[in-house]
Parts: sequence; structure tokens; C-alpha cells
Amino acid sequence: MARVLLQNIWKRYPGDVVAVKNFNLDIQDKEFVVFVGPSGCGKTTTLRMVAGLEDITEGDLYIGDRRVNDVAPKDRDIAMVFQNYALYPHMTVYQNMAFGLKLRKFPKAEIDRRVREAARILDIEHLLDRKPKALSGGQRQRVALGRAIVREPQVFLMDEPLSNLDAKLRVQMRAEIRKLHQRIQTTTIYVTHDQTEAMTMGDRIVVMRDGVIQQVATPQEVYNHPVNMFVAGFIGSPAMNFLRGELVEEGGSIYFRAPEISIRLPEGRYPALRQAGVIRKPVVLGIRPEDLHEDEVFQATYPEGTITGRVEVVEHMGSELYLHFTKGGQPIVARVSARFDPRPGSEVKLTMDMNKLHIFDAE
Ligand code: ADP
Ligand code: MG
Repeated sequence: MARVLLQNIWKRYPGDVVAVKNFNLDIQDKEFVVFVGPSGCGKTTTLRMVAGLEDITEGDLYIGDRRVNDVAPKDRDIAMVFQNYALYPHMTVYQNMAFGLKLRKFPKAEIDRRVREAARILDIEHLLDRKPKALSGGQRQRVALGRAIVREPQVFLMDEPLSNLDAKLRVQMRAEIRKLHQRIQTTTIYVTHDQTEAMTMGDRIVVMRDGVIQQVATPQEVYNHPVNMFVAGFIGSPAMNFLRGELVEEGGSIYFRAPEISIRLPEGRYPALRQAGVIRKPVVLGIRPEDLHEDEVFQATYPEGTITGRVEVVEHMGSELYLHFTKGGQPIVARVSARFDPRPGSEVKLTMDMNKLHIFDAE
């Protein structure tokens, strides 16, 4: 097990592509860290640099106490699981899992012990004599994990390992990988473009954009206190509503104003907003769909946060509804209980949870 430390890491590809820019991250021993961000933001490049499959242009990489910039991949004591896990078709599951150890000239008895132990952890003992073509997608993915586990590495590196599985299996495997980590506690870096995977799996998540880290924090922290509009819009589903407007000070209070919208902000926010000097500046008010409420208790508590609108579309999601409406030309989505079932075209009253408002600099 090991700490992984990335210090001022840069990656430039030929042709002036700067894929990773000044990446700094201290991953604790036993931690499960998820890199998340849209396609092309530099997740795979960063992971491949940790693996040693890609040269580091600038900066220092440590695994444990060792600087490994110039250490060959096979000597870094890491194991990787990819999206396109190629199992050898002519080998059985047992042989597939044993192969890497055999190459490294492990004694037969040790190989056998490790393969059987990994098979037990992954619940694939009954499949050891099968060939890959006789396995389901989920079983193959488990074998791919097994090949990594038998190595007993210091660090697991996983690059979108679930993206070839169907949605239902993905949800199941996501929990299995977490369970696996709870059992063997190997430091893990997990890459995904899927914010749900990141939120559900990571001890901490690293949100990336254009090769730059935007925020490193626990899922709760990233959800509750996103540092900018990019993170706010990327994490959460449906995405956070963004309303463009400005802050106006009037009679000692601070209001957010946009066409057809005027909301007096909670007094607790005034000092920070004054200090930031954002009064009379264009800002973006962020409110998550789940922080817009239809019930009367909220309306009584936060009359200043209540807005009305004409419902355009109702999306039925089982126990919940997504209501789409427009206010002063700006689209808003509310995620409410299915008990509240307004007809399209009808007028609804929705109340913002005033403790869950976000104010961003307009981008
Ligand atoms: P992600 O995994 O987040 O989708 P990547 O790390 O694959 O992103 O890519 C980051 C950026 O680096 C992208 O702009 C991509 O086009 C570029 N890139 C990746 N690999 C190479 C390469 N071998 N040569 C040149 N550019 C590359
Ligand atoms: Mg990638």
C-alpha cells in the first residue's frame, strides 16, 4: 500500500497539446480517489503518467517514498484495469488470472494461492475453468479485476473500467468495486467521465477541465460547495439551474434581480457578498432542481424564495417528477415528489431553499 504524490505535473504532447497543467495531488495510503471530467480533460493522460506508460514532461511523481519518474512501469508496483480489458480467449479464467504472475516467475503454489483468494473475493470460483467466451460481460470484468488483484500491487489504476457494461450492471459493479476496496484497501485511482460514478465511489473526487484541476474534495463537499460554475454544472443530476442576473443593494438588503425574478438573499450572505464587491455586478445564481420545493412548509419559511411559473413539460421518473418551466426567458428545472402532479400549462409555485443558493461570478 502506498501514498501517491503528484507535484507540479505537466504533460505536453507533440504538436503543442498541453494535456495536463500543473497537476498537484496528494493521495493518501488506502484512499480511493476518482478523477472525473468531460472527455479530453486529461484524466487518462494523468493516469498513464502514474502508470509509467506516458512520460512526464515536468514535475515529480512519488509512489510511496520513491520518486518514480524514471522507473519502468513493471517496477512501479501498480496494476491497471482498462475499459477494454482484453482477456486471452484461448486461456481459462484461472490461466488468465495466473498469467501475469507466471511471467514474473512466481512459484506455482503462490500463484495458486493468489488466484484462488482473488476468485473467492470476486465470487468467481465456479468460473475458473471456463474460457472468456462462456462468460457474461460482468463476469469478464470481474476476471479483469482478478488479474489486477493477484498482483497484490501498491496501487490500482482503473480507467473507465465499467463503461462497456450496460447500465444495470454498471450500478452493481460500482458497489462491488467499492466493497473490494473496503476489503483489500489498496490505494486506488479511478477514472471516469460519469459524475454519478465519481460521487458514489470516491473518498475524494478530483474534478478536471482542460487539463486543470478545478476542485479536490469529498463528494459531499463538491456537491454542497462547488467552487465554480463548471463544477456546479458538472456534478448533480439534473444539472444545477443557472439564472443570470445581478445583485442589487436596496434598503440594507441584497437582492438577486433578473427579468421576472427578485429574490432577497439571506442576511447571512451579505457580509461575504459585500466583501467580494459583487454588488451591481452580473452574477449567476445557482439552485439545484432538488432544492426547489413545492410544499407549503417551504413556502411559509421562505416566502422571499418563492417563484411562480407555467409548467411546460412534466417528466415522470417514478417517485419523482422533473418540472420544466421558464422565468424571464431562463429555463428552470425542479425535481419534486410525484405526489405533486401539475398538468402541463398550469401555474406552479416553487420555493428555493434559501440555504442552498449558490452565487457565482458570471463566466
Ligand atoms: P480524457 O481521458 O480525460 O478523455 P485524455 O487524457 O485522453 O483525456 O486527453 C487529454 C488531451 O490530450 C486531449 O486533448 C487529447 O486529444 C490529447 N491527447 C491524448 N493523447 C494524445 C497523444 N498521444 N498525442 C497527442 N495528443 C493526445
Ligand atoms: Mg480517457
